[in-house]
Amino acid sequence: MLRIENLVCRYGKVEAVKGVTLEIERGQLVALIGANGAGKSTTLRAISGILPPASGRITLEGKDITKCSARQILSLGIAHCPEGRRVFFDMTVDENLDMGAYLRNDQREIEADRGRIFDMFPRLAERRGQIAGTLSGGEQQMLAIGRAIMSRPKLIMFDEPSLGLAPNIVEQVFTIIDNVRKSGTTVLMVEQNAYSALEMCDYAYLLETGAVVLSGSGKELIDDEHVRSAYLGG
Ligand code: ATP
Repeated sequence: MLRIENLVCRYGKVEAVKGVTLEIERGQLVALIGANGAGKSTTLRAISGILPPASGRITLEGKDITKCSARQILSLGIAHCPEGRRVFFDMTVDENLDMGAYLRNDQREIEADRGRIFDMFPRLAERRGQIAGTLSGGEQQMLAIGRAIMSRPKLIMFDEPSLGLAPNIVEQVFTIIDNVRKSGTTVLMVEQNAYSALEMCDYAYLLETGAVVLSGSGKELIDDEHVRSAYLGG
């Protein structure tokens, strides 16, 4: 479904991604793991059109999207749920969800999706009129996920969905991501919590200093000596 070939991304002189090649099949949950600064978030930014790649090629269902704008990429069906629970702070929960659906006109379906999100996150339903900036961190994360789902993406990218969340909320967020995949949406997830990511994914890539050094099923990576000692605490 999505193919990245020899992706190179730079921030000025810093080469953050140095020739990443990876593939995501439709319906899969694929994890990108690696240490801080390995280039995981940068790879997602390049896919979503926020950061134009220095070189390389990104194709979605065979169509070259390397030079598409962020808006075009969203309209082609790729949603990005960025790191740091980026919600619109001055807007209510409902208005944030509306923003996720701003490229859609199917009002009835939009309301049905809103209902499904409120079923997933009853806490958001209780707070639908509340200003997002006053939500707790966990609630903002739920809202960021809900907003991404509202765009009805084919592929949804989650960047560090568990970051800064209480353990019981982390579990809930992983369950929701698993449900997103079960509903037929393809998922690409960046996660520091390597063990959880590897346990739930179909396929994973390990990035080190801007390059893929290992890939395989979640189980293969969990069983790998290097992954165990460097990322899973032995
Ligand atoms: P983390 O888990 O810490 O978020 P990451 O694997 O997602 O790490 P990136 O955020 O992709 O890593 O960063 C890759 C490299 O690019 C790092 O060396 C980082 O310092 C650099 N970098 C990221 N964003 C910028 C920026 N806006 N300007 C300059 N350098 C940047």
